[in-house]
Amino acid sequence: MERREVLRWLTTGGATAGPMLLSRAGPLASLWAQESPSSMRGLPSLKIKDINTILTQPNEMRLVIVKVSTTEPGLHGWGCATFTQRAYVVQTAVEKYLRPFLIGRNVDEIEDIWQSSYVSSYWRNGPSLFNAMSGVDMALWDIKAKRANMPLYQLLGGKCRFAASCYYHASGRDFSELEESVRKGMELGYRHVRVQAAVPGLASYGSASIDSSARNETENAGPTDPKAIWDSAPYVRMVPKMFEYLRSKIGDELELLHDVHERVSLNEGINLCKQLEKYRLFFLEDPFPPEENDHFRLLRQQCATPIAMGELFNSLHEHVPLISNRLIDYVRTHISQIGGLSMARKIAILCEFFGVKTAWHGPADASPVAHAAQLALELASYNFGIHEGGHFPPETREVFKGCPETRNGYLYANEAPGHGIEVDEKVAAKFPFPAGPPHFDYRWGTVRRRDGTVIRP
Ligand SMILES: [Mg+2]
Repeated sequence: MERREVLRWLTTGGATAGPMLLSRAGPLASLWAQESPSSMRGLPSLKIKDINTILTQPNEMRLVIVKVSTTEPGLHGWGCATFTQRAYVVQTAVEKYLRPFLIGRNVDEIEDIWQSSYVSSYWRNGPSLFNAMSGVDMALWDIKAKRANMPLYQLLGGKCRFAASCYYHASGRDFSELEESVRKGMELGYRHVRVQAAVPGLASYGSASIDSSARNETENAGPTDPKAIWDSAPYVRMVPKMFEYLRSKIGDELELLHDVHERVSLNEGINLCKQLEKYRLFFLEDPFPPEENDHFRLLRQQCATPIAMGELFNSLHEHVPLISNRLIDYVRTHISQIGGLSMARKIAILCEFFGVKTAWHGPADASPVAHAAQLALELASYNFGIHEGGHFPPETREVFKGCPETRNGYLYANEAPGHGIEVDEKVAAKFPFPAGPPHFDYRWGTVRRRDGTVIRP
């Protein structure tokens, strides 16, 4: 942009800057401080006064929450920066790097704060830095909606549905126990249930089988812990039998989902998806790891089982080929992992143009603040698909006042301004992270094949 154009932009209501930009802007410095009152309809200009992290573990999950305070007393926003496997790294990224960079910035400049934070490390992308940015980003959206005195979904376009359909997690050590778990979800009103069954003797993902929960997490697993062995062949033989059993017991009405968790080869994945076509899944999740994104083109050419993918994606660049080539049906991104609501909003819009729906990643390592941000986007996105979970245990509700409510399989916004959630910092302090090590869940990086090869993930 020419200097003359920059001057025009700045003097007609464009960006204002924090101390760092002011000090570097030279002749432009005085202009950065000018802001058109008409652009804010009489609202005072507000600055970021402080940024802090809150680490809390109310229900066996390390949560990282970011609080952005403003120059208006009592007005602050909450964001989720939960990267439970590297929580202290995110805390450092927020407090040592983003905090001093952003104090003094105008709270309304969410997009510019995202973009300038993105390049502030020079090398960009990655879960630690993006989770840190997400904490700030979600908090700024919370603040903007509170200033407007509106629930956040209003700023994203307003509701196009009254609530978000959720899916329930069912699991079992055998098919009978799984059926019991599925029926529990149905009794609660869920119309969508994810089903995971154990493969006897293996560290099966998502089921109450022999897995790391049975292992002492402080012991060095090493090749090869007999309690953490994985073999994909028995697994791909089990899954069609599981769906056959469930359809015979519960009929056709219930929507069924399943998560492969990346643990099969290309040929196994294609074979499995072809065999599952007749059971009419709502979706099959993550048949391949993100390192094998090209596999999805081959899979798509051979079967019609709906595919969900993207839980481990960081960058928008990982999404674009799968979305624009219509190789997946649901995007599964963990929204704090990609930098927060600002980037999730762009991905949702991109997906709409290619017939891909959203199914944001939302188990317990997405805090209630993240669920509320997802819900706001889901209520306002035409191409919403499904919301994961949405069940908040009592201790979590004690910390996060105003969690969205699940009724009859739907998640409802609480209609308060912003995210509608207030974090009780005193209660959060009652649930500190346990003293470590371990400082993370050793479930990942310890499951191996019989020959000792570590699996993904
Ligand atoms: Mg998953």
